[in-house]
Amino acid sequence: MLEPNAHPLSGRGPPPGGTRPQRYCYIDMDGYFASSEQHLRPELRGLPVAVYAGMPGRPGGALISVSVQARALGIKSGMRANDAKLKLPSLTLLAQRPVEYILLHHELVARLGEVAPIHHTHSVDEVSVKLSSSDRPDVLMAALREKVDTSFSTALSLSAGVASSVWLAKVAAESGKPGGATDWTQSGVLPDALFELDLEDLPGVAERTAARLRKYGLESVQGFYDAQPSRVRAAYGSVVGERIWLAMHGYDVPVPRKRPRQLFVHARVLAPDQRARAGPIARWLALCGWLRARDEGLRPGSVRIQGTEQGKVFEATCAITHPAGEKQLLGATSTAWMALREQCLPAQISVVLGKLVQDPKPHDDLLDGPSRDPAVDRALAAIRERFGLRAVQYGGTCDATGPWTGLKIAFDRVPTVAEVRRMMGPDFARAS
Ligand SMILES: [Mg+2]
Repeated sequence: MLEPNAHPLSGRGPPPGGTRPQRYCYIDMDGYFASSEQHLRPELRGLPVAVYAGMPGRPGGALISVSVQARALGIKSGMRANDAKLKLPSLTLLAQRPVEYILLHHELVARLGEVAPIHHTHSVDEVSVKLSSSDRPDVLMAALREKVDTSFSTALSLSAGVASSVWLAKVAAESGKPGGATDWTQSGVLPDALFELDLEDLPGVAERTAARLRKYGLESVQGFYDAQPSRVRAAYGSVVGERIWLAMHGYDVPVPRKRPRQLFVHARVLAPDQRARAGPIARWLALCGWLRARDEGLRPGSVRIQGTEQGKVFEATCAITHPAGEKQLLGATSTAWMALREQCLPAQISVVLGKLVQDPKPHDDLLDGPSRDPAVDRALAAIRERFGLRAVQYGGTCDATGPWTGLKIAFDRVPTVAEVRRMMGPDFARAS
């Protein structure tokens, strides 16, 4: 067994980037989309509810979130919505409403931040906070829960875990689901609590990785824990294995900084009746990427459109002329599209904005160049502010994918409220 704070690789000194006394609380909402629906629609509270990916009234897809009550009756995420309804006729099936969950996320983060400073937002329903040296884990977790109960409702159930690394705190929270408050900083709890888990329960260990670990002789979580980190690294097949090993031993290993962003990519599968309008759709996707780039203080220098037809990929690229404004962006997108159209009739298109440069002065949406007309510019900005991005556009874009274009919930990025407002326009007020 290692001495506290000993470097696990050398046995001497603390590991790089952190030592054991650090403590984190990980907060993970239980069945977040389903419980959000129960919060927003009080008549559903206490009932089995599941949210599916698909259009309202057409529950053909898989379940993406299940309420605590539905889970207790055997309904699981990933089940086909129709199968779940057969299994449990009292189940209420609801189409996903990503915008609602994103807006609620931002409200939750703001309220939780009043209890303790948010350390990191991990996903739409997971955040971590750092404990100060005087914080008591049980008191903090109770305060966080109380905050959610009083600021929102008890429909929003959460699980919390405290441990000495973010990774361990996440596993602790997961182990107490639903509704748990699990403290893994108390003496004597670890490592035994970890050994009750399966390899597949560990964040970062998917089914295939677990199979690989077993092949290399790491048959269980205890086997993983007790192995030399170099062996874990080899068995896992990358340095990530070693990072998990360090986190498992309570070391707060900083995640390497992400490389600076290289691209913005927006892609769509085109229904047969949309294929004739692929050009305007490409321009719309380019505009979505352009506005995100602007939010991040970046300006793209090129547009590449990739089209897929019968499994083969074709592409065309065009530089965005200087000074790069929205007009130049859309011009370049049209040029690239016309070149691509010569090659294929795509069933799927991706618009890739590349050659990003820092743009400290946020560029204006329109007429950013010699022909710039401030009065037109202001008028268009005012129209968009009030009626959303779709209200006014530069020469022929086509929002072919309904009101939520560009607003899917990715694992690593939650859209901002400003982004939601811009995309939804007048619908924003109705939704919020
Ligand atoms: Mg969750």
